[in-house]
Amino acid sequence: NRMISTELVEEDIKIENHLRPQMLSDYIGQEKVKENLKIFIEAAKSRGESLDHVLFYGPPGLGKTTLAGIVANEMGVHLKVTSGPAIEKPGEIAAILNNLQEGDVLFIDEIHRLNRQVEEVLYPAMEDYAIDILVGKGQAARSIRLELPRFTLVGATTRAGMLTAPLRDRFGVVNRLNFYNSEELQTIIERSAEVLEIGIDPEGALEIARRSRGTPRLANRLLKRVRDFAQVKYDGQITLEIARDALNHLEVDTIGLDQTDRNLLKTMMETFEGRPVGLDTLAAAIGEDSGTIEDVYEPYLIQNGLIQRTPRGRVVTRSAYEHFHLPIPEDR
Ligand code: ATP
Repeated sequence: NRMISTELVEEDIKIENHLRPQMLSDYIGQEKVKENLKIFIEAAKSRGESLDHVLFYGPPGLGKTTLAGIVANEMGVHLKVTSGPAIEKPGEIAAILNNLQEGDVLFIDEIHRLNRQVEEVLYPAMEDYAIDILVGKGQAARSIRLELPRFTLVGATTRAGMLTAPLRDRFGVVNRLNFYNSEELQTIIERSAEVLEIGIDPEGALEIARRSRGTPRLANRLLKRVRDFAQVKYDGQITLEIARDALNHLEVDTIGLDQTDRNLLKTMMETFEGRPVGLDTLAAAIGEDSGTIEDVYEPYLIQNGLIQRTPRGRVVTRSAYEHFHLPIPEDR
């Protein structure tokens, strides 16, 4: 229940669907990705073809699902949403593919978690728009080819490195999503505030933006929490002062670090005395899952220059000591 977890939690779902931009022109930031998509979408439309398969990768909550929906809207086709862990058997993916209509977008979140047999069904589906189905048993078994409509697979993953090469190679368009800067997040917060009819000053929005770890999902969540604060303790309008007060109260610091980040960094500085530490050791020391550290916490800490990944392990940087006003060890 981490306050600033960038992973999707139950309470986000309803509001996220409500706040999701529908077209490329409403989507804020990620300029390079948008530019790319715009060109490919226009080209595919003018040729009357389906769009090439698209892969989005990057940390959670940056807008991969949103972009999949936008791709479908821009192409004027249906969107079917599923995820890697939800598809267990080859027959299940075969059924999903077989139910698509010409041009449709199939979105598979966490695509790196597809199992091997399911993935193998996808290869010919992506390449030739066909699947091979085994009918009969034993000696009499034979494979028949089933033609599929031309569809677009949009895959999303937090771990591009965990995708197998054959799957990765079948995506014609590969896009990396980056953390958003504070100005972009401010715009996202102002837009969300308008949709949710929350009064907010630009300075208040910027303060929430600065503490949102570059992540729209978190920006929207913090906005809601600050609104509660503004309604109960003040007169409703979110100002700079109220945003600060609320976020301090929620223990989200000036650069968006929460209790768990602080614990992680302090453990590296104090328990391990700033020496390189392996991911698993660190995970055990703070009682977190190593995959979660790698996917969720670490990217932002690395991006902000607070830790570095080295061949000998993770190391805290001088900036981390400075952020906590701790003395920098002499050998650093
Ligand atoms: P995950 O992979 O963890 O599910 P995601 O990358 O798919 O995350 P989304 O669900 O697309 O993230 O986005 C999270 C929320 O952030 C959505 O509610 C969406 O409205 C908002 N959002 C994301 N990107 C933008 C953007 N560029 N402009 C405005 N809102 C955005």
